[in-house]
Amino acid sequence: DAPRKIAVLGSTGSIGTNALRVIAASGGALEVAAISAHSQLDLLVAQATEFAPRWVVATDSKAAEKFDWSKLPKGTELLIGCDELNRVVAQPEIDMVLAAIVGRAGLESTWAALENKKTVALANKESLVMAGSLVMQLARKQGAQILPVDSEHSAIFQALQAGQPTEVERIVLTASGGPFRQLNQNQLKQVTVAEALEHPVWDMGPKITVDSATMMNKALEIIEARWLFDVPSERIDVSIHPQSVVHSLVEFVDGSVIAQMSPPDMRLPIQHALYYPQRVAGVAERVDWGTSFSLEFSPPDPERYPALELGHQCAREGGTTGTVLNAANEAAVGAFLAGELHFTEIVPACRSVLQSHNFDSDPTLESLVELDRWAREEVSHWVFA
Ligand code: NDP
Ligand code: MG
Repeated sequence: DAPRKIAVLGSTGSIGTNALRVIAASGGALEVAAISAHSQLDLLVAQATEFAPRWVVATDSKAAEKFDWSKLPKGTELLIGCDELNRVVAQPEIDMVLAAIVGRAGLESTWAALENKKTVALANKESLVMAGSLVMQLARKQGAQILPVDSEHSAIFQALQAGQPTEVERIVLTASGGPFRQLNQNQLKQVTVAEALEHPVWDMGPKITVDSATMMNKALEIIEARWLFDVPSERIDVSIHPQSVVHSLVEFVDGSVIAQMSPPDMRLPIQHALYYPQRVAGVAERVDWGTSFSLEFSPPDPERYPALELGHQCAREGGTTGTVLNAANEAAVGAFLAGELHFTEIVPACRSVLQSHNFDSDPTLESLVELDRWAREEVSHWVFA
């Protein structure tokens, strides 16, 4: 078989670097056609040297123009600016696009990939949170497939194969509970940036690590699941599962629950998407059945994790809500990481911006982009001077 040629957008991030390891171990079955980075240009050049892609994209033009590109291998074409992502994903020789840019910045390239009928391995959940209805509509219209990389959604995608869509009773997303599962409200107020960046199970980029600590990540995943699998909000539940071995479950109408299990290692859901519909031995860790272990599940306390209700609300109401929640959250997390907002203010700031926005049930992409700007601006009122 000809190798599958992959554009890895956001190749310098946590998902991107893991994906390159999966591709490196593929024995030529998978090939890197393009990579992209924003600030880590030395790493981008090192990746280009290892994988000899046809294109590299440096999305931050200012940083790229100052950078010394002399070490970039010959045969690799350098493209500068975020608009170049949209051009690269349109190239006929690219078979699949791994969308692993973080946040709202990932939307346009995901969109462009689908428009060009490419299969998208989607890590960038924010593009579905922001514009899930429009993104899914585009994928259907173009006949382009979206394969989930988010571990919960990869698990659901796999479990759904055990029945018909009409036989699904509910989806249960598992959540580790984050690093502050055991803290009380007073202790939560004192949480520092360094503590929030220390996740007990997963080693991820800073934004999603903070999202996991506030449980906003699970809220975004409820919205992601609603669009990806067309399951209504009230059929999506969350269960706290600290071991993160069961990555999510599907309950069918007969009461049968199908789960997907594997040690917490993002290389497995990445590999599952990149090789789909094939399964290969790969590089991910395996469950060790020679040792004893136990798995716990408990329902989340809604007062403890107020972000979850916001996720359900946005999944229920659709329209402009996902865009507002996502933008407010990105701005609030940015402010927290900059030391300008307390940890416990992230979710209230999001709720307040969501409540005060002008709801529209059927927005255009242009209006969502505008609303994204507005919501970020609103969060700045929360930031202490
Ligand atoms: P990282 O912060 O580790 O990486 C983000 C990537 O996006 C980097 O390559 C970064 O470039 C690039 N990037 C940052 N800002 C921009 C921008 N404005 N324009 C273009 N590119 C940009 O994030 P993760 O890998 O952790 O997460 C990536 C996505 O995957 C997120 O949507 C996240 O929610 C999702 N995800 C991640 C999981 C994980 O385990 N990490 C699990 C499930 C989902 P550079 O580093 O060069 O600046
Ligand atoms: Mg996840």
